[in-house]
Amino acid sequence: MRIRLIAGNWKMHKTVADLEPYFIGLDSAFYTRQVEVMIAAPFTLLTPARQFAEAEGVKIAAQNVHWEPSGAFTGEISVPMLKDLGVSATLIGHSERRQYFSETDETVAKKVRAVLDGGITPILCVGESLDERERGVTNSVIRRQVLSATEGLPSPGPMIIAYEPVWAIGTGRNATAAQAQSVHSMIRSVIGTRFSNTVADGMRVLYGGSANPSNIKDFLEQPDIDGALVGGASLKAGDFREIIRLAAN
Ligand code: PEP
Repeated sequence: MRIRLIAGNWKMHKTVADLEPYFIGLDSAFYTRQVEVMIAAPFTLLTPARQFAEAEGVKIAAQNVHWEPSGAFTGEISVPMLKDLGVSATLIGHSERRQYFSETDETVAKKVRAVLDGGITPILCVGESLDERERGVTNSVIRRQVLSATEGLPSPGPMIIAYEPVWAIGTGRNATAAQAQSVHSMIRSVIGTRFSNTVADGMRVLYGGSANPSNIKDFLEQPDIDGALVGGASLKAGDFREIIRLAAN
């Protein structure tokens, strides 16, 4: 059985002073046994957020990582550095990284490998652009992204995949539950072919793209949607709490 995961992505938002009121507002004690909750925080907040989050049973993840363990890569953060802080998961290949910071399928694959080798959970983000959806190539784009990120891996370990249509991120325009389910089921079958049906059955695949308290239920009713990666709606504790509450029911 796959335990639902609701993961927030704070992107480049929040400072230390925001943490206490946020976690008070999240008030998570009532749900953590039924749904796993995670927040991908900016690097500067990984340690202070963990201190608040752990008490609430919330995990803290990073939003990015470099594939080399150390070296002359000014401004980058490595897997051992994340482990130093006790961080156990990281987003990889978020569409904003692919779009604004030139991440490619190749760099994403290197990051996935480095993270798995280091014992951290990769949350691999994949998604098609509006143009790709309109050209009818969604499935082939997602298949390429998943296959390239997992190429040569003996096992995906604890990998989680987040399907995030680029046109739905931060736009207020979410995919329909049926559109998302269709891609999630295809991702699961790609994973089944690459590894095994058992691996595919156990892997969590999240939906991301303007998920909010009003639409989350529709997504979670789908058989292949195991939770959500939530951007904008994770910034307000009340909205995020409501999404978690609905996921826990
Ligand atoms: C995201 O950043 O991963 C995301 C899904 O953002 P939003 O929920 O704001 O669309």
